[in-house]
Amino acid sequence: MEPADRPSEDSAGGSGEARSLNFIEQIVERDLAAGKNGGRVHTRFPPEPNGYLHLGHAKSICLNFGLALKYGGKCNLRFDDTNPTKEDVEYVDSIKEDVRWLGFDWEDRLFYASDFFENLYQFAEKLIQDGKAYIDEQNLEQIRQQRGNLTEPGKNSPHRDRPKEETLDLFRRMRAGEFPDGKMVLRAKVDMASPNMNMRDPILYRIRHATHHRTGDAWCIYPMYDWTHGQNDSLEGITHSICTLEFENHRPLYDWFIDQLDIHHPQQIEFARLNLSYTMMSKRKLLELVEQKMVSGWDDPRMPTICGIRRRGYTPESLRAFCERIGVAKFNSLVDMEWLEQAIREDLNKRAPRVMGVLKPLKVIIENYPEGQVDQLEAINNPEDESFGTRQVPFSREIYIEASDFMLDPPKKYFRLAPGREVRLRYAYFIKCTGYEQNAAGEITAVKAEYDPATRGGNAPDGRKVQGTIHWVSAQHALDVEVRLYDRLFMLENAGDIPEGEDWKKYINPNSLEVLPACKVEPVLATSAVGAKYQFERNGYFCIDRDSTAEKLVINRTVTLKDTWAKVQSKGDK
Ligand code: ATP
Ligand code: MG
Repeated sequence: MEPADRPSEDSAGGSGEARSLNFIEQIVERDLAAGKNGGRVHTRFPPEPNGYLHLGHAKSICLNFGLALKYGGKCNLRFDDTNPTKEDVEYVDSIKEDVRWLGFDWEDRLFYASDFFENLYQFAEKLIQDGKAYIDEQNLEQIRQQRGNLTEPGKNSPHRDRPKEETLDLFRRMRAGEFPDGKMVLRAKVDMASPNMNMRDPILYRIRHATHHRTGDAWCIYPMYDWTHGQNDSLEGITHSICTLEFENHRPLYDWFIDQLDIHHPQQIEFARLNLSYTMMSKRKLLELVEQKMVSGWDDPRMPTICGIRRRGYTPESLRAFCERIGVAKFNSLVDMEWLEQAIREDLNKRAPRVMGVLKPLKVIIENYPEGQVDQLEAINNPEDESFGTRQVPFSREIYIEASDFMLDPPKKYFRLAPGREVRLRYAYFIKCTGYEQNAAGEITAVKAEYDPATRGGNAPDGRKVQGTIHWVSAQHALDVEVRLYDRLFMLENAGDIPEGEDWKKYINPNSLEVLPACKVEPVLATSAVGAKYQFERNGYFCIDRDSTAEKLVINRTVTLKDTWAKVQSKGDK
């Protein structure tokens, strides 16, 4: 891992940090300066509706819509629905929702590749009339065998020089449904000896007697992606057609098509796709995770999908900041997951109210605190932002603390509760441990303590110090909640790069989900809505999950806090 692939204190500055233009912005500005395209900037985001969007798509969305916003241009949403069998309305709807949620608007420019099937068909007829396409009646295997390889040129099909009238006739009959699937294809007549394999007479149309989710049974021939994409861009008036690196060597073919057809010529620009550590972004594999129930669904909070990360508690602002920060490059690299986590921490630090929540509760009985008495203590809702105000936190004789905040026999640098030790309860009092209860197995079942009424608010009038500050929740007031903690979905850093054929599922982290069914949180959470976000002091950022019921809240941990223990401790001791 390159050190530069991890965020540092410096690189993780505010969201508005100045940066130099990326290479795509440079191209756009150069084109604008040269008056190209009449000064227009028009991009598009072209997903195939065969799965839910993931973080890689988020990068592409931010890039395409971001350029349009920055240069006063437009960005279209286009569903690349050329494959009739793999696509689904469910995916179309989820994609629209995700793009909107990220904060972008395609206005009235929603397109489908299938809207252009007739145009593409007419373009194909033009190629045929110009002698630039032919019907090949060989099967796909024969065609494949004649393609050659990187060192050997391909061989011409025996049908390559078929008279164009004959091709036109067959092509029209193909469209009319006269032939079964696989009987013939339409191929472009480019160059079977080209060093670029994509130029070796690519297939433009195949016969597929399949019902399409939008065009129904209107077509039984479907255009190939390569024949569709560039012309689609052209027909929509796209000026800068941004795609990922694997399309770099398709560009000469797209250029060739556009030149033959003599239509508006968008400029294709390739950038490196986003790869994130400990996860993967192949829709096919994500679909497998869902179908085989290795996750609870597309929006499982461990999934790198936009809906998953949204349910996990990420905000659109944090994803946009993340995409901005990682930038665009010309070479593939692996981005450390830390960048993503850093982006959401920064955003939630500003916007999430603080509360106290105990994940693994241990009861503390404060023996000198009067039974039945309740104290209301004032707590700060967000030390980063005064406008969040304060709240009252109830305190009583029995409270819960984290089990890990008590040790029978503490090691040297442990500053929390232990027999005879005194700590500060955040916003409350100093308490001193006077004893404990154990079960037959030797586990601590409760801690006994005394509080010092003079330390109300967390400071001793005699100036005495304590080294630890811990969070707590009043037992009688606490809400019982379920908390779900998440870890990396894969155990392999480079999970996106597992070679084809290798069993990628063996790298799934079996401990990526930990369910804590009996956590205790402040009563103030009782009225919170699904999606509401909080910082649980010392434990991280959390959000209310949609599995919550009237009886019980279910809460996701979005991300842990970094160094918060040290922070809380030193702040409290000031
Ligand atoms: P997958 O390989 O997972 O199926 P895809 O590239 O086929 O992904 P599309 O729906 O075709 O998915 O992608 C829509 C747009 O999003 C394309 O312009 C594509 O380049 C871009 N995109 C997809 N994955 C990434 C990624 N990891 N990083 C950046 N952009 C991406
Ligand atoms: Mg694709």
